[in-house]
Amino acid sequence: ESLDKGLEKTKSSFFSKLGKAVVGKTKVDDDVLDNLEEVLVTSDVGVNTTLKIINRIEARVSRDKYVGTDELNGILREEIAGLLAETHVGEETEFSVPKDTRPYVIMVVGVNGVGKTTTIGKLAHQFKQKGLKVVLGAGDTFRAAAIDQLQIWADRVSVPIVKQKMGSDPASVAFDTLTSAVTQNADVVIIDTAGRLHNKVNLMNELSKVKRVMQKVVPDAPHDVLLVLDGSTGQNAFEQAKEFTKATEVNSLAVTKLDGTAKGGVVIGISDQFQIPVKYIGVGEGIEDLQVFNKFEFVDSFFK
Ligand code: GDP
Repeated sequence: ESLDKGLEKTKSSFFSKLGKAVVGKTKVDDDVLDNLEEVLVTSDVGVNTTLKIINRIEARVSRDKYVGTDELNGILREEIAGLLAETHVGEETEFSVPKDTRPYVIMVVGVNGVGKTTTIGKLAHQFKQKGLKVVLGAGDTFRAAAIDQLQIWADRVSVPIVKQKMGSDPASVAFDTLTSAVTQNADVVIIDTAGRLHNKVNLMNELSKVKRVMQKVVPDAPHDVLLVLDGSTGQNAFEQAKEFTKATEVNSLAVTKLDGTAKGGVVIGISDQFQIPVKYIGVGEGIEDLQVFNKFEFVDSFFK
């Protein structure tokens, strides 16, 4: 039910295209499959994932001889779920903070504007609601606005934030944040970083330095690296995922801004293509608008 809000635009656009793709047709034939391919690609599912889905449906049509277009919904639901089931990635959801890992350190990466700060604020709120003590680190020192925005979220959620002035060394902010978290017996630390993709070597160096310095305080930090992607950018989100996974180890994904876009199909493609679970989706600007993502629930909710 709660998924519906975020998927509204994607669903209405998808089903209007799907309706046109089968108009005047009762049987799924080559024409319908061609049209369906186009519907999936233009819904940002991605070419590779689209082809896999079409192949599965084609195999089914040739096996069952007759497949009615009225069955297409249910078939899409089954075949996409079947495709996503081929990897177990993404079956577990949300962050689980192990009891013996204190503080649990999450490093958040992603390019500017994708919703990194907002996602950090929403996550801090969720952890806090579970009774966990959270500390934020303003590691995106490249932009003053990033530090200010994170401060606003820290105030909104009522969690402490560690920051330095703009232009200071992100690794030094990370060090201070972890030191402070250890002193305060915090449960969870969420560290923001600057994501400047235009220079991959710099990005790699910066992120590995942040990690190295964090490990002076918490030897196995970060416990998770969360990449935030803007779902409304469709194929750009794919490209960013490719670049960031080359630059650093990424353990989980958050796809934001699904509420304002018809490009929500991107989540299906991303779930299929990267061996990294989508853990969260952003469905609005408010504090509660971050949902735990489960790929099967997503497909169910989409095609129900
Ligand atoms: P950052 O530069 O990556 O830290 O991005 P911000 O967190 O500052 O977000 C950029 C803009 O996107 C802000 O106006 C946010 O309110 C908005 N935003 C973030 N997540 C979502 C979301 O899930 N849905 C919508 N509609 N807006 C979002």
